[in-house]
Amino acid sequence: MSEVKQRGRRRAGPPCTEPAATAQPTRRELLAAERSAVAPHPTLGGLIRSSIGRGAGQKVGMALAATGLALAVTVPSAGGALQLAGSDTPAGPAASQSLVTAAADVPITFEAPSIASALNPDGQLKETLKVKASNVTPQAAKGTLSAPLKVLTPSSPFGSRLNPLTGAMGEMHTGQDYAVWCSTAVFAAAGGTVAFTGWHPYGGGNRVVIDHGNGLSTSYNHLSSIGVKVGQEVERGQQVALSGTTGASTGCHLHFEVMVDDQTVDPTGWL
Ligand SMILES: [Zn+2]
Repeated sequence: MSEVKQRGRRRAGPPCTEPAATAQPTRRELLAAERSAVAPHPTLGGLIRSSIGRGAGQKVGMALAATGLALAVTVPSAGGALQLAGSDTPAGPAASQSLVTAAADVPITFEAPSIASALNPDGQLKETLKVKASNVTPQAAKGTLSAPLKVLTPSSPFGSRLNPLTGAMGEMHTGQDYAVWCSTAVFAAAGGTVAFTGWHPYGGGNRVVIDHGNGLSTSYNHLSSIGVKVGQEVERGQQVALSGTTGASTGCHLHFEVMVDDQTVDPTGWL
């Protein structure tokens, strides 16, 4: 794979030299496919089939996530969908009474939380960052950042780990990796100001850094393309880039970092 590409960067302290994202065939899968080979070219066929299988699974997952809103909308259909779908207002008192018990309550229950959070998406973070980020307790930090991808598939975690190539102990992995197809939308984890865009000299590839104020920032690495500029204000959930495999990376994934006073911390403590 890209062992050659990685070799020169390790000494410089790359943030990310993990193996390929789980969506890609791993070496073990390659070997297993070869071992079970019976047809003239079964390895390739098996790989394609297994890739398609995984791809389909991810697409279904993404589709399910994307249809969350649609689900909330269609829930009341059992109690009066025809009326809701066909007209904006009830025909009269009798008609509305017959629908109210089944239809009126359900959508409110489902939609109210999303409306509240949409009105003030950074409220919890702003409250938390009234103190410097370095003084924020783990309890206060939890849940203040949003997911940088629509679907989070954690692969390599933050922290000390075995070097994926040499097996040596003690390599520091400065972020949380998420397996994702290349060219998937990457979102700002919170509102802020774009502090850096461009090539990361230590293996991050195409990288975006967003400053959220009071010592907290996030970075998004190995991107295939960048959609924001330095100094630009971005909102939580705004698309800032597309995922990729640039820099010290062996497969499409997102290396997501959270930094407190420019020191990386475990991103999952803030998500
Ligand atoms: Zn990484």
